[in-house]
Amino acid sequence: METRQFRAMPGDDLKEILREPGEILREGGLVAFPTETVYGLGGDAENAESSRKIYAAKGRPSDNPLILHLSRVEQAEPLVCVDERARRLMRAFWPGPLTLVLRARDVVPLEARGGLSTVALRMPSHPVASALIDAAGFPLAAPSANVSGRPSPTDAETVWADLQGRIEMILDGGPVSVGIESTVIDVSEELPLLLRPGGM
Ligand code: AMP
Ligand code: MG
Repeated sequence: METRQFRAMPGDDLKEILREPGEILREGGLVAFPTETVYGLGGDAENAESSRKIYAAKGRPSDNPLILHLSRVEQAEPLVCVDERARRLMRAFWPGPLTLVLRARDVVPLEARGGLSTVALRMPSHPVASALIDAAGFPLAAPSANVSGRPSPTDAETVWADLQGRIEMILDGGPVSVGIESTVIDVSEELPLLLRPGGM
C-alpha cells in the first residue's frame, strides 16, 4: 500500500485539508494524526474491520484495547454508560490527556476493546485531532501510531519510519506538545483505578 502524507498544521484551513482524510476513514481506511500527547493511528471506532486493520498495521496483540477519541463530550453517551462522576471528570479535564475507562455499549465492537466489557475514551485537545474526528463524522479508535513494542511517536517522521506502506495516510501536524501518553483511569467500578500514569 502506498502511504500518502498531508501537512495539517493548527491554523491551516483544516476543514478543507481534512476532507480527503475524512473520506479515507469513512471507507474504513487508517489515518495517523497528531494529538497533544503522541501521534495516533485512527480508524472508525464503530467499524470492527477498521480495528482489525489497526492491530495488523501495528503488529499489536488483539487483546490490548484501543482508546476511542472524541471531538465532543456528547459523543460519549452513545458509546458508554456515563454516570455523574464520569460526567464531572469529562467536564473538568476534557479536552486533555485524560483517558476514562467506562462500561461499553454494544455499538462498540469487541475488536476495539480487546474483548473487554469496558472501553477507553478520550477527547484530545489538539486542533488537528478534533478537526479530523469532525471530518470523519464519528469517533476514532486510535492507539499510538507506532509498530508494537516501539516508542510512541511524537512527530510525523517517526510515524513514517514505522508505518509507511501499512496505512493509507499520515497527517503531519508538527511535533506534539505533551510528548507522553494520556493518563488512564478506570471509572467503570465504584473504586476508581489509575491504570497508567501519563500526561494529566
Ligand atoms: P495506546 O493507545 O497505545 O496508548 O494504548 C491504550 C492503553 O489504554 C492500553 O494499552 C491499556 O493500557 C489502556 N486501556 C484501553 N482500554 C482499556 C480498557 N477497556 N481497560 C483497561 N485499560 C484500557
Ligand atoms: Mg501505545
